[in-house]
Amino acid sequence: MSESSEPAGFPTQEQQPPGLTEPMSPVPDHGEHSYVGHGRMTGLRAMITGGDSGIGRAVAIAYAREGADVVIVHLPEEQPDADETLRWVERAGRDGFSIAADLRSVEACRSVIAAAVEQLGGLDVLVNNAGFHYTRDGRGTIDGLEPELVERVIHTNLTAALWLTQAALPHLDPGACIINTSSIQAYAPSGHMIDYAGTKAAINAITAALAEQLGPRGIRVNAVAPGPIWTPLQPATRSADEVSSFGTSSPLGRAGQPAEVAPAYVYLASPLEASYVSGSIVGVTGGLPTF
Ligand code: NAD
Ligand code: MG
Repeated sequence: MSESSEPAGFPTQEQQPPGLTEPMSPVPDHGEHSYVGHGRMTGLRAMITGGDSGIGRAVAIAYAREGADVVIVHLPEEQPDADETLRWVERAGRDGFSIAADLRSVEACRSVIAAAVEQLGGLDVLVNNAGFHYTRDGRGTIDGLEPELVERVIHTNLTAALWLTQAALPHLDPGACIINTSSIQAYAPSGHMIDYAGTKAAINAITAALAEQLGPRGIRVNAVAPGPIWTPLQPATRSADEVSSFGTSSPLGRAGQPAEVAPAYVYLASPLEASYVSGSIVGVTGGLPTF
């Protein structure tokens, strides 16, 4: 974690999407050596999309240490990251499974839910966390938008969450919950992330709408809105210049680590602590306002 005397940005670096953890400098902190579980999720069964790396990996480690079994979903080229996450889940004494799938199609979303339910013997917590943006060479400005990238952003961030939720619902009993990953971009949209910001604002609206529809079934729906967090998504999709100053303009003066975001997902998933929390969006932003 950064000390105030150290430079707050990151060494110049770029990867190709979707990006991997090991080549990052520094390697992010997912709570491997710090997160302490307190039995908040004992016996629960959770599926986390994008659980191979970044925020999703930190959530997987925290959920396992809280007593949950975990399925993580990732892209095929992220198998090394998925394997590493599973090692931490298993070290916590819980069952962990990984599913390689591209969630941009409704068919993939349906078959991933079916596989996860089979592996876990049911489902209690669905974390819709897979996400994508691309800002290199002005690709996220209105002049630079390209159909293929815009469709990738929309189908990864938005439609996958809808189809996964729809497919999961028949398996969710009262007491289950859904947690979506929003973003500070839903509140303070950047001119160079137009398509991405739009999907995250939509995630907020969908979270509220689902909370209304599913409340009567006893299912809670919430979201976490992270600020700038150091994950493979950043060096894989931003220019080297953007990476070097990433997070420095937040009030806390630095990017956050995935380990600093995961506790919000634990709180929202905890049947005891968050039993009356639904339709909420929890900001973890280093001081950037989420209202
Ligand atoms: P990350 O790269 O570690 O995780 C994103 C994951 O999304 C990837 O690991 C990948 O498995 C998954 N994914 C992407 N495209 C996919 C596809 N087509 N099919 C299946 N899976 C796919 O980065 P992260 O920052 O931890 O991202 C997790 C979530 O957090 C995303 O929704 C992102 O938008 C959101 N978020 C991140 C930040 C940040 O600063 N890092 C800020 C706000 C919100
Ligand atoms: Mg990844």
